[in-house]
Amino acid sequence: MSADSEAAAARPEHLAGGILTVDLGALQANYRRLVEEADGIAVAAVVKADAYGLGAERAAPALWQAGARIFFVALPDEALTLRRVLPAESEVYVLGGLFGAGAERDYLAAGIRPVLNSLQEIKRWGRLAAAEGRALPACLHVDTGMSRLGLPADELATLAAEPERLAGVSVAYLISHLASGDEPDHPLNREQLEAFRAARERLPAMKACLANSPGSFLGPAYRFDLLRPGAALYGVNPTPGQPNPMAQVVRLQGRILQVRVIDPPRSVGYGAAFRAERRTVVATVGLGYADGFLRSLSGRGRAWVEAREKGAAVAVPLVGRVSMDLITLDVTDLAEAPPVGSFVDLLGPGQDVDALAAAAGTIGYEVLTSLGGRYRRVYRHG
Ligand SMILES: *Cc1c(COP(=O)(O)O)cnc(C)c1O
Repeated sequence: MSADSEAAAARPEHLAGGILTVDLGALQANYRRLVEEADGIAVAAVVKADAYGLGAERAAPALWQAGARIFFVALPDEALTLRRVLPAESEVYVLGGLFGAGAERDYLAAGIRPVLNSLQEIKRWGRLAAAEGRALPACLHVDTGMSRLGLPADELATLAAEPERLAGVSVAYLISHLASGDEPDHPLNREQLEAFRAARERLPAMKACLANSPGSFLGPAYRFDLLRPGAALYGVNPTPGQPNPMAQVVRLQGRILQVRVIDPPRSVGYGAAFRAERRTVVATVGLGYADGFLRSLSGRGRAWVEAREKGAAVAVPLVGRVSMDLITLDVTDLAEAPPVGSFVDLLGPGQDVDALAAAAGTIGYEVLTSLGGRYRRVYRHG
């Protein structure tokens, strides 16, 4: 968490426009669910991008408590944050590699480990190992079809022919990354699996790790020695099209700031994108796209209101555009307008991360990592 959002978290709830509740117990339950799926092999935790927007400083220790010992982040900065909150025995790997010249010394000093993505990075880590007079741990990444990071085919061939290039590098896991794990029938899954197996056979014996969240549900062939899930930990469905085996971790509530009645042909919000066709009751809620409530939800999203007459939450539609700090709801059909100062659910039992993402035309990953710094953040323990 940034210093700003930490300060915001410390302020009283009655000043908040939105409350983001992170259920660390559900996060831990999801980790244990993946351990079950792993059927005896180890499960790492991917906590990059501030644990997908939920707060790595709170999420990572909770995952450690649930049994996670291996953590992956994208950037060295993120790894340094983890080192402050995780026990020294934890293994923290930086997926992005070694970054700028000389960074390897910072990694060594801080006790963080690179994922080596090229022959050049292998050389840099090996040189440092030679200078230190001992082998240094790392993961080794081969590209099997994602074409972003990892040794490309020609570098893999060179390494296979000259394995002495790994001198000084103690490879904890050979890794690769699936491009289409969320589409079980996509032929690329099989192709990448075969390419990964082939790469492994050409290199000195080492443990291996291929599966991200959806990959973890593709069956035993994809498991190897370690699972490497991120999104599923945070409640995103790793089996799209099928029931979500994961528990929801976040709840997002927005505060109703004002309620008004408008008559046709009055419009609501920027661009007059919604125009009343009947007497309409509009509730204005204190969060918007500056909080990561995506503007593409304009006229498409829904909120859930606690309906007093029914004792259950009912859905009401967003009307008009999502503004920077505000959204507007059509609450006409409720028997009673929700009271000013009360909260509606934007993420919660009625609408999970994937449902909100579908309404926004994106994926749960983006909904989570967009969650803004202005929410009051509440962490519930297991
Ligand atoms: C982000 C990432 C993961 C985790 O993926 P999920 O789909 O969130 O489980 C695993 N491996 C690599 C290389 C990644 O970049």
